[in-house]
Amino acid sequence: MQISDHLHFLKIPFQVPISPELQLERFVNLFLIYGEKSIVLVDSGVAGAEARICEYLAVTGRRPEEIRLLILTHSHPDHLGGAAAICRLTGCKVAAHPAERNWIEDTDRQAAERPVPGFSKLVAGPVRVDRLLADGERVLVDELVLEVLHTPGHSPGSLSLHLPGERVLICGDALPLPGDLPIFTDWAASVASLARLRGVPGVEVLLSSWDRPRAGAEVDSVLADGVAWLDRLKNLVGAATGQANATDPLALCRTLVAKLGLPPAAVNPLVAKSLAACL
Ligand SMILES: [Zn+2]
Repeated sequence: MQISDHLHFLKIPFQVPISPELQLERFVNLFLIYGEKSIVLVDSGVAGAEARICEYLAVTGRRPEEIRLLILTHSHPDHLGGAAAICRLTGCKVAAHPAERNWIEDTDRQAAERPVPGFSKLVAGPVRVDRLLADGERVLVDELVLEVLHTPGHSPGSLSLHLPGERVLICGDALPLPGDLPIFTDWAASVASLARLRGVPGVEVLLSSWDRPRAGAEVDSVLADGVAWLDRLKNLVGAATGQANATDPLALCRTLVAKLGLPPAAVNPLVAKSLAACL
């Protein structure tokens, strides 16, 4: 889907195998920034997403070799999974924040330290980070300018990208969706990042990995909803920690998942860790 003059949006559905009987249906959004001669891909989806990306390029009259840079908003499987194949197909360079480098370049380490179910199916392999991106840097896509914002909280090195010429802000997983699985490593950093994103001037369209594109007044309201959701989680966790199961993160997770009306698959170590990060 074309969002603005130079920006395209691609939704990649996938499944996370929680157990032999239980598949968690998820999706991730990728973004293609079309310059005159070159293309920047923002996130690579899960393993296999390269077929959808190439198909989309063909439909829009562009070629895979035009992708010169893959920017990973962070290292998680649904953003990194297709990177190895994309790099092979296009010869593109990879850019990411320094805090995500280890898990991008060593996927076995990521799988051991953050064991997402089905990791080896979701991630085709590691890639080398060619360019480290820090807050405030600018990336040029031919005539287009991308401003890099470091927006940690969901992960330590999460990046957002502002395209002032397109009036678009890409925020990756920095925006939590109320009612969806809470996944973050640092509650306070998440809240601060959302405040920062709300302050970016002139944004007409907000693109996140987990939501449909938001435009106009919705841009600020979904960011405000994200903060309200984080506040609600913190309050619930605070209220529950006085209770008997407070020392067992998974038991606490089970209680809160029921209270929040989240699906049973939300009772897992990643969500338990996020809820513990509210404290
Ligand atoms: Zn993520």
